[in-house]
Amino acid sequence: MKYWSDTLAEKLKERHLPLEGVDDMKTPSGRVHMGALRGLVIHDLVYKSLQQADVPTRYTYVYDDHDPMDGFPVYLPEEFKQYMGMPLYQIPSPGPGAENFAQYFANEFTEVFNKIGCHPEIIWASKLYEDGKMNDLIRVALDHADDIREIYEKMYKKEIAKPWYPYQPYCPQCKKVATTTVTDWDGEQITFTCEVNKVNWTQGCGYTGKMSPFSHGTVVGKLPWKIEWPAVWKVIGVTVEGAGKDHMSAGGSHDVAKQISEKVFHYETPYPIAYEWFNIGGKKMSSSKGVGTSAAEMLELLPPELVRFLMVRTDYNKAINFDPFGDTIPALFDEYQRAAQAYTDKSDELLARMFELSQINGVHMPPKLRFSVIAQLVQMPNMKDYIASEGLESWAHYARNWVEKYAPEDEKFSIQESLPEAAKNLTTTQKELLARIAKELDTDWEAEKLQFEIYEWGKAMGMSGKEVFSAIYTALIGKDHGPKAAWLILSLEKNFVQKRFEEAAK
Ligand SMILES: [Zn+2]
Repeated sequence: MKYWSDTLAEKLKERHLPLEGVDDMKTPSGRVHMGALRGLVIHDLVYKSLQQADVPTRYTYVYDDHDPMDGFPVYLPEEFKQYMGMPLYQIPSPGPGAENFAQYFANEFTEVFNKIGCHPEIIWASKLYEDGKMNDLIRVALDHADDIREIYEKMYKKEIAKPWYPYQPYCPQCKKVATTTVTDWDGEQITFTCEVNKVNWTQGCGYTGKMSPFSHGTVVGKLPWKIEWPAVWKVIGVTVEGAGKDHMSAGGSHDVAKQISEKVFHYETPYPIAYEWFNIGGKKMSSSKGVGTSAAEMLELLPPELVRFLMVRTDYNKAINFDPFGDTIPALFDEYQRAAQAYTDKSDELLARMFELSQINGVHMPPKLRFSVIAQLVQMPNMKDYIASEGLESWAHYARNWVEKYAPEDEKFSIQESLPEAAKNLTTTQKELLARIAKELDTDWEAEKLQFEIYEWGKAMGMSGKEVFSAIYTALIGKDHGPKAAWLILSLEKNFVQKRFEEAAK
């Protein structure tokens, strides 16, 4: 079985286009959600599969930086409220290192997707206008205002009052774009009003004027986004573009864009990919403080190649359920190791390809030890040298983070400073066993051998495996379960363990 993007690339190859233009887009209106990485990786996969199929391909990413600020992120200072309704790229940056608001959040997102191996060519929508590239299609749209209006009316099954024009000038007085309405187009100039009550989340200034809708150097206005979307397809030559299924449903914005593209701009709709949701699981996610959902925070949870693998291993048409509090994270690491194994021994072509497509800057094999075991190691004292010598530092970093913030209680343990209360309930045989182990620790042990012997000693005393090891866990961590007992014992100071076991055995 072939991977979906390889199958698609083969199909697209058949149409023999001189250049395939894969494109995705985003409005940088605030911190970008981790779910947006899904679209990015999906397009990146198509791009890479096309390249491997020897199809000339370009991968672009459009930041719609001139969309108005139409929502107010909670983390923004109050003073930004005055910019509601203005184009995002004309709002000051909320932090250092960026020229404007849109760029600030776009750069943060770009940094994340670059780290996971996606390097599309960045296009700023405002620049397309500034460079005059949109002017021809602005004229076509205004000249065909009636055709576009009819497309809207048919799609939404409701009448739109005339006059109606598909263009939004920037108000020269209050600088807002969300509040303006064009009332006339004479072939050279538009007449427009900045309406006080056009939207209920910001107010226009009432200005009325006449001007050219064409930008040269300075941007004077934009197409509404459902019309701009197909205009951008034509201007930059997009031939493949997917979107989340909410946009792709029948009668949705993609349908509108498609009709306008084909009937008004005479441009073939790019090959569509309707992809499923990226769900972030559990109520805990939204209510828990310090736990974010931004793309940047994703890289604190997982190494970059696993962020990619999370997106790669699930076909675009199936939902991804990501729940850092559930078993998503350890299960993902386990599956990544299976995929690496499949790549090495060529046992499963599809899984091997998923591993290959998740690599960043060359193929890197993951550690052999399971994530859940590494998560135990990081909770044991004195394991630093072992972790380093086994090459586990990278995964240990994520394991530590997982244990601290997300792991369920039964995956967490800490060595108790004094004998836990629960030790009172140890049986006589369990106490005898602990006394025996304390004595045996006078000699040096290999973890594997000690583990085996502990089990044998217990068995000889008539105990089950569970009774044997729960005695050890109870005495050290106050729980009836824990990591591999011998490793735990040997990770601790010998005298400490002997004393503790003797005390528990009393
Ligand atoms: Zn105004």
